[in-house]
Amino acid sequence: MESRARFRFLGRLKPLPAAAKSGAVEYLFYGSPAIKDSIEALGVPHTEVDLIIVDGRSVDLSYRLQDSDRIDIFPFGCSPSIEPLQHLSPPLQADPSFVLDVHLGKLARRLRMLGFDCRYRNDYSDPQLIELALDEGRIILTRDRGVLKHSRVRQGYLIGSSRAEEQVREVLVRYRLHGQIRALRRCPQCNGLLEAVEKEKVLHRLQPKTALYYDSFQRCRDCDQLYWQGTHYEKIGRWVQQLLNESATRG
Ligand SMILES: [Zn+2]
Repeated sequence: MESRARFRFLGRLKPLPAAAKSGAVEYLFYGSPAIKDSIEALGVPHTEVDLIIVDGRSVDLSYRLQDSDRIDIFPFGCSPSIEPLQHLSPPLQADPSFVLDVHLGKLARRLRMLGFDCRYRNDYSDPQLIELALDEGRIILTRDRGVLKHSRVRQGYLIGSSRAEEQVREVLVRYRLHGQIRALRRCPQCNGLLEAVEKEKVLHRLQPKTALYYDSFQRCRDCDQLYWQGTHYEKIGRWVQQLLNESATRG
């Protein structure tokens, strides 16, 4: 016999357009499917879900749907006044690391500029992304709902914006990273850590004007790229200040 449940997706959660014509989604099903599968059938990966409230009770992803269930799905950062709450998102990490899908190269560079550990290549397959995430305890950042639906994926975030600047803001807010920004400690090209290097040691690699105007240099430990405090540094400094100001305004 056919049963039906009513889902509401709150906050930033967006079911697929076909399912989202109104605020609530009527979901038809047979038997008693796991709620994880039903949520994902509506287009929302399980990694996006922090709370599942069924008729006023907080349940986890193994809950099985029953006829007439009324279900509210919340993303991380919401706290409905229900007790007890079973939060499904893993706790925030003090020093999180990430692996990014092939479309997020610009985001990877920007997060590295802010000091965050980001694995990225423009040819990672989905299975590689997932393996890296599991092996190294990394959070998957992606614009692809499919990757995050794999049941092995524990930590991931579906990037909403298509603009890199906005994507940075999303990640900082989701993982509460503003206090962990350490600009200019990591190579934007390769993710390697930067170390100070004496000017004399790299003099032979510098253009005459660079040698004339700059005295402070850093080198990437992994790819040997040189960095110095030119106008680029000032630009990054202003950008970091802007991100911190926005965070302070948001409270
Ligand atoms: Zn490098």
